[in-house]
Amino acid sequence: MGKQTSSSKRLLVTGGAGFIGSNFIRLALSSGARVLNLDNLTYAAGTEISTGLDRTANYQFLRTDIVDSKSVSAAMQQFSPNAVVHFAAETHVDRSITDSNPFVRSNIVGTSSLLQAALHYWRGLPDLNKQDFRFIHISTDEVYGSLGDIGKFSESSPYDPHSPYAASKAAADHLVRAYSSTYQLPSIVIHPSNNYGPNQHPEKLVPMTIRSCLQNQPIPVYGDGKNVRDWLYVEDLCDAIVKILNEGKSGSSYNVGGGNEWRNLHLVEAICDLIDEIEPPGQRSKSRRSLIQFVSDRPGHDFRYSLDCTKISAELGWKPIHSFTEGLRKTIRWYLQNRARLGMRD
Ligand code: NAD
Repeated sequence: MGKQTSSSKRLLVTGGAGFIGSNFIRLALSSGARVLNLDNLTYAAGTEISTGLDRTANYQFLRTDIVDSKSVSAAMQQFSPNAVVHFAAETHVDRSITDSNPFVRSNIVGTSSLLQAALHYWRGLPDLNKQDFRFIHISTDEVYGSLGDIGKFSESSPYDPHSPYAASKAAADHLVRAYSSTYQLPSIVIHPSNNYGPNQHPEKLVPMTIRSCLQNQPIPVYGDGKNVRDWLYVEDLCDAIVKILNEGKSGSSYNVGGGNEWRNLHLVEAICDLIDEIEPPGQRSKSRRSLIQFVSDRPGHDFRYSLDCTKISAELGWKPIHSFTEGLRKTIRWYLQNRARLGMRD
């Protein structure tokens, strides 16, 4: 990664006990990188990363809040990373509508603390290491706002965040860009679309649907279920992050989408059908689709997100490789073997 081989990479990852961070750490470790995971283990964190990796020599974990700049700075000086990969955030839109303060705290103040620590550390590096250093910030497609039936957001689309979550991520992006232009801190902002895969908290649509199916409980779908999201399998995103870390242009940003748009209702129906196939309902039970219940829409619910990913494909040759059915099958099978992540007995 960078000009170094991946085996000499030292990655400080924030939020690595969460959904995407834990998948990314597994990939990074498998390529020989050393990883320090900074995470304060909020309700959203899984135990998967700690149980699986505790005894892995190249992996270290420090329970700390990224807002705590002293502790983050000390960890950074001690670990000497070649790159920071910043996932840590409050991530659930509905929670941000109920209370935006934790989102401002972790997503904006936390990113600012991390940037300050990274700048201080980076300034102390020898010139050659300075050039190779990267601050990779994981943003979201939600900072661009909502689309109608047609069109796509490119990296130059204006910011127009609607939810408090998206607004807090947009503010963090601006801080990262400001550190890049003011101090030349080598940074890259990544805008992924909706991810699905192993180890996501069950408040999110895909695992929530799987849990409802397994527990024979109603599956709530917002509004008329017609809102559209672009779904990306988490391993494909992690591959893209590695590519961006290795070859991405400093000071730049990249959209990373699945090119795989689904209405929420159709996604939920697809999960119901796959679970019916993997664990057929008893003879007298109906298809899991019968569990779907429409509920009042989320306030300010963005209608559609869609990303133009020409840049990452042309510059770095990245494309998602998992088909939606394949990704969903892998995801469902993982949850069937890790029911505790759904709050169920294994
Ligand atoms: P997640 O909610 O599953 O995990 C977030 C992790 O960050 C948790 O382990 C939590 O303990 C940690 N964390 C939160 N606040 C912290 C703090 N103050 N200090 C230290 N650790 C803290 O999130 P995710 O779905 O894995 O998302 C990771 C990143 O990707 C986020 O920045 C999110 O905005 C972005 N993103 C996610 C998606 C998606 O579909 N999941 C899509 C686009 C962008």
